[in-house]
Amino acid sequence: MTAKAQKEKDVVILEHKETEIKKEIVFYAKLMDEKGLVNTLEGNLSILDRETGKLYITPSGTRKRFLKEDMIAVVKDGEQIGGTAKKSSEFLLHEAALKARPDCNAVAHIHAPYLTAYAYCGKNISLKCSTTFALVYGEEIPCLPYGEAGTVHIADGIEDVIRHHDLILLGNHGVVSVGKTMEDAIKIIEAAEEVLKIYHITKEIGSVKNIPEDQWKSLVENHPGSIKNRKKQTGGRK
Ligand SMILES: [Zn+2]
Repeated sequence: MTAKAQKEKDVVILEHKETEIKKEIVFYAKLMDEKGLVNTLEGNLSILDRETGKLYITPSGTRKRFLKEDMIAVVKDGEQIGGTAKKSSEFLLHEAALKARPDCNAVAHIHAPYLTAYAYCGKNISLKCSTTFALVYGEEIPCLPYGEAGTVHIADGIEDVIRHHDLILLGNHGVVSVGKTMEDAIKIIEAAEEVLKIYHITKEIGSVKNIPEDQWKSLVENHPGSIKNRKKQTGGRK
């Protein structure tokens, strides 16, 4: 193959990859819209192509239901270099999360109602009544202090916390999660939101019964499906 033919082939491969990334973002943005977890003004999803350094992110002020692939903003070195709509102002948050987690490529920033309610209270979440919570999140979902949205300050302190937690709350704002893929980043938000919904229904019908402390600890520490053991199996983070 000539150098020119190789170059043309590389361009086709990169374009294909770019299309697939944009499709993935549009798919999940629409899914989140359908589930009522994002709206026109809140929530954004991104995928970083670590090979090219390009960050693909949902645009600001756009109803996710109407998103099209060509609208996805492409950002490199902080500058928008592609996409027909303006990049989300929260791209700084996405960049900070991805910098702190080199094992991850996808970020979901969502104002899911139950999780965000805890963020409005500035409360870490720790539910000892739920096996799902213990296995998926371990001891807690931590909450960062308040930082101004749309500025670097929304991500203040994120490096230290997101290293140990794939899902965290942003004080007075919303949540952010990271994953190897967008599916990984989204599924932990969906599961947490569901657990909290059930927790609040439970409080309506009776008193919440926690798992006995020693058994809860064993679940978090020793269960083969616990976050701790999943991390071990993958040689680091899950
Ligand atoms: Zn936000």
